[in-house]
Amino acid sequence: MIALPELEGQGFDTILDNVYNTGETYLGIDVPIILARDENLAPELRYFNFSYQPMYDENKMIYSILVFGYEVTEPMIAKKRIEESELHFRRMADLMPAKITNANADGGVTYFNKNWMDFTGMSFENFRDFGYHSIMHPDEMEEFQIRFNEAAETGTVLEMEMRFLNKEGEYIWNLNRASPVKDENGNIKMWIGVTTEIQKIKDEERQKDNFLSMASHELKTPVTTIKAYGQIAEMMLQENGDSKTLAIVNKMGNQITRLNTLIGELLDFTKIKEGKLIYNEGFFDFNEFVKEVVEDMRHTTVTHKILYIPTTDVHIFGDKEKLSQVVNNLISNGIKYSPGANNILVTTRLQNDGVTLWIQDYGIGIAKEVQGKVFEQFYRVTGDSQTTYPGMGIGLYISAEIIKREGGKIWVESSNDKRFCFLYVAPF
Ligand code: ADP
Repeated sequence: MIALPELEGQGFDTILDNVYNTGETYLGIDVPIILARDENLAPELRYFNFSYQPMYDENKMIYSILVFGYEVTEPMIAKKRIEESELHFRRMADLMPAKITNANADGGVTYFNKNWMDFTGMSFENFRDFGYHSIMHPDEMEEFQIRFNEAAETGTVLEMEMRFLNKEGEYIWNLNRASPVKDENGNIKMWIGVTTEIQKIKDEERQKDNFLSMASHELKTPVTTIKAYGQIAEMMLQENGDSKTLAIVNKMGNQITRLNTLIGELLDFTKIKEGKLIYNEGFFDFNEFVKEVVEDMRHTTVTHKILYIPTTDVHIFGDKEKLSQVVNNLISNGIKYSPGANNILVTTRLQNDGVTLWIQDYGIGIAKEVQGKVFEQFYRVTGDSQTTYPGMGIGLYISAEIIKREGGKIWVESSNDKRFCFLYVAPF
């Protein structure tokens, strides 16, 4: 104390007295001490680890106390900084409107913010590790596991729309994004999860789908009736030999057929969304089936020749009508998007895993970066040349849904010379 007068009043006399009186060694860890670095400097807060150990003489009497200590100010400051930044991060995470989690490499949650707690009403103990699985909707559980494993294997972000149970017992739609954080070797060391509520968007989407479903249903009946009257008018005009009016009525008939197809697409779209598209499956001759669709399509175009190359005889299992709708759509697109060309090539090939149908046009093609997107609902390639083509951007979405349901595969390849083709593998 004489050497270090600033220690006076910091409790060390009491500790020393205690060691003298009890004979017990005292261990001080990370102890804050106000101390001057040297006599010319003002005393400052520093941290020490030290021990006061009693020393005994031959009469087992304490004759002195061995003091051993070292300074830990630097590591303590670093530790405090980490603690402060963690606190700062947690406060920030609590103030964010999103629900935030931190998980270890396996996906076991180690932290979640206040919004999660407010949403679920769950304590950290119930939610932590894989406790959060209990609030996932059972319908999305399997997909989540598969997609999480994929993201973990590839080190990519997992993004999935999924429902979580809130404290009122309702499943609420959320957009769940889990981003991997990697160490210097590229191994995932943790995941940061950001979950945003999208229930309102989902409700609006459902309202829009309901509206589309109702509108297409309501439109279907009058259009079908007009079509029937048109056909009667055509027959009457043919009988009367009124070729001029017949030509006009024929043109009107073509437009009604187009309108009918559009309404049919809208109806199928809404049925797919509601999971109500009914499939009637059976075995049928694949070559014969493609031939029939090609024949039908030949009647609809005067600009393009549709060349068809069949393959070895093969029977496949599926919904013939729905599949013909797909082929029809692919050929119509081929015609629509190749105004400067006059050929469509339809080829079928037998492969190990199924039969492939290849529809090739020589039109405007599709840029590589949007080739996967054309199967998304309402997606239409933008650009001056594209906007001139009529369409709603749902034909390929419906086709892809049908092919997926039938266990097939649909994709697009478009090479630099703008040739564009679709291929489809139907399993036997
Ligand atoms: P749409 O009714 O717009 O044709 P689809 O779902 O059938 O809708 O196609 C989606 C988009 O994909 C189209 O808007 C078009 O941009 C592009 N596309 C489809 N088929 C072709 C094709 N054969 N050649 C070039 N682009 C195509």
